[in-house]
Amino acid sequence: MKKILSAILAVIAAISCCFSIASCTADSENCLIMVTDADFPPFEYLDDNENIVGFDIEVAEAIAEKLGMTLKIESIAFEKIFDEIENGKYDFGMAGLTVNEERKSQVMFSDTYATGIQSIIVKEDSEYTKLNDFFAGFDESGNPITAKINITIGVQKGTTGDTYASADPVEWGFEEKNVKKYATGEEAVQALAEGKITAVIIDSEPAKSFVDKYSGLKILKTPYANESYAICVNKDNTELLGKINNALEELEKDGKLEEIQNKYIAK
Ligand code: GLN
Repeated sequence: MKKILSAILAVIAAISCCFSIASCTADSENCLIMVTDADFPPFEYLDDNENIVGFDIEVAEAIAEKLGMTLKIESIAFEKIFDEIENGKYDFGMAGLTVNEERKSQVMFSDTYATGIQSIIVKEDSEYTKLNDFFAGFDESGNPITAKINITIGVQKGTTGDTYASADPVEWGFEEKNVKKYATGEEAVQALAEGKITAVIIDSEPAKSFVDKYSGLKILKTPYANESYAICVNKDNTELLGKINNALEELEKDGKLEEIQNKYIAK
C-alpha cells in the first residue's frame, strides 16, 4: 500500500513539476529563467544524464532559493545570450560571462562572483611556447606589431577570447584573418587536438577540463588576460539586479559561494 501511495505521489510531483516549468516564463511572478550555454565546464555542462550542471547552476539555484523562486534553465548558443537578455526572453544570463564595457551597453551586470583568466592551449609538442612566439615583429618597447604568418587561432564565437584574438597585434591580438571561430569552445579544442589549428584561446577553467579530456594538449604558462565573471540582466530590470546582488552578498557571507567554488574549481 505504501509503495502504491509513494508511486502516486511521485507521479503527482512529476506532473506538477512539469506544469510549473511549462508555465515558467520570463513574466511569471515566481519563476526565474536563466539562459546559459552548457558547454563551458566546470561552470555549465551536461552530466551523463544530459542535465545541465556546474558552478553557475549551483550559484543560480542558491540565488533562486534565497529569493523563494523556481529556477528554470535554458541553453542556447553563447553569441545569442546578450541579445536574448536585451529582448527580455530570459530573466538573467549566467555562463562564465566576462564583464566588459561593450556588453554593458547592451545589458546590466551583477557584482562579480568569480574571476577568470584567458589561457592559450597548444599541442604538447608545439613550437609555440609563449605569447611572443605568435608575433613576428615588435616595436622598440617590445610590443607586437605583426602576427606570424600561417597561424590559426581557434576561439568560441562571441566570447572575449574571440574579441581579444581578433584584435590587431598592437592590442596583443592575432588579426581577424588568423582567427577561426567555432560554435563551442570544445569544437575549437577538438580541431586543435586534430592538428587543424595552432592554438585555442579560452577561459582557464574550461581549458583545464578540455586538456584533461583530449590528449596531447597543454596550457601555456603565460596568462593571456584576466577577467571577472558576473550575471547579466535586462537593462530595465534594476529590481531583479538588486535582488541578485543581495543574494550574492548573502551567499558570500554564509560561505555558500566558497563551498560551490571549492567543489568545482581546484585550488
Ligand atoms: N568568459 C568568456 C566570455 O564571457 C567566455 C564565456 C563562455 O564561453 N561561456 O566571453
